[in-house]
Amino acid sequence: MLPDIRSQTRESLADKFAAWGQPAYRLEQLLGWLYPRRAASWDEMKNLPKALRDRLAEAYPITLPQLVVKQGARDATQKFLWRLADGALIESVLIPANPALYGEASDRHTLCISTQVGCAYGCRFCASGLDGWKRNLLPHEISGQVLAVERWNDLAAGHGTEDAGSASGGPAVPRSPLPAPRSAERLVNNIVVMGMGEPMANYDNLMSALRTLNASWGGGIGARKITISTSGVVPRIRDLGDDPLQFRLAISLHGATDEVREKIMPINRKYPLKELTAACEHYVERKGKMITLEYILIAGVNDAKDQTGPLAALARRLHAKVNLIPYNTVEGLPWARPTEDVCEAFAASVQKEGVTATLRREKGHDIDAACGQLRLKTERSEGQAI
Ligand code: SAH
Ligand code: SF4
Repeated sequence: MLPDIRSQTRESLADKFAAWGQPAYRLEQLLGWLYPRRAASWDEMKNLPKALRDRLAEAYPITLPQLVVKQGARDATQKFLWRLADGALIESVLIPANPALYGEASDRHTLCISTQVGCAYGCRFCASGLDGWKRNLLPHEISGQVLAVERWNDLAAGHGTEDAGSASGGPAVPRSPLPAPRSAERLVNNIVVMGMGEPMANYDNLMSALRTLNASWGGGIGARKITISTSGVVPRIRDLGDDPLQFRLAISLHGATDEVREKIMPINRKYPLKELTAACEHYVERKGKMITLEYILIAGVNDAKDQTGPLAALARRLHAKVNLIPYNTVEGLPWARPTEDVCEAFAASVQKEGVTATLRREKGHDIDAACGQLRLKTERSEGQAI
């Protein structure tokens, strides 16, 4: 068996169809089922001849992540825990652009997706790396998070036949075909690659998945609506700058001096701020795009007044905006979020230096929204159960 059908490039599928003597329009039909219609089985593809479906089934698996648990927060942020074909657990978080306050539902959503099972980078504050790195996700496991969330949404909206909320780990997808959604009906129109794992350490699979999600025949999500977050893998930041697609870049900075940053992020020893800054400059020059500096505020670690000067200087040099995020506490880790007053004062003093800085009021704080936390809990409780 070859890797999953959604881990194949369009070109390789075109070659295969040519070798099988299939007319070109059959490939378009197949892609229509794989992406806009988010098919979960060959049987759904009713307009493909049975012989072709059988041939495809012999050559390729077709899988989507299976829903294990979905948690919804009061502000309508929802977290999905998925099980992959080999049993590995990963997470995605769906965030409405306008939280459904006052009963008004939002039609624009951002999906935060994972790129690895676990993480090898070991940032001291993060739940994703606590149990180490297990493996890279394949392209179809990255793009499949978007497709599976949208499929779940179709079901929740009453277009499917099977219960979408299977909490037992059983199938979370319907057997019957879904109506083809029109592009205007898409649930996910922004992607942030900020879930579990370091995306730049799985660069080729990530880019393959993002190209598919971006393609008009695939996910149809604009490159400018896709943001990749990295802890600072310098060579890949340069590669992203050289890539023809306009994916956005966010840097997990969390320390504006080497002294502070290397205390919490081991990667800073390999790629200190000087090198990270140069790589960001390269990206900004090549793309002409503004980058975002993510800065988690952790009490007593990086929230002192004397850090705002170096942070603002770095942001000015890179023409970057700063996103301040109060730390989300992780069970078993000693770190805490500063008081609201400290966060507000920190934000105000960065802004006073002429930098665009936003202070995020964490959405989904009550559902373990920071990456890796739900998986960690589930894995540990499953481990205990065995
Ligand atoms: N590995 C990549 C992307 C995944 S982490 C990276 O580090 O950028 C996504 C973001 O969540 C990063 O900015 C990370 O630092 C942040 N994060 C991790 N643990 C957190 C926590 N407990 N509270 C708030 N943000 C956290
Ligand atoms: Fe990995 Fe990012 Fe977490 Fe660091 S912050 S351990 S790079 S997922």
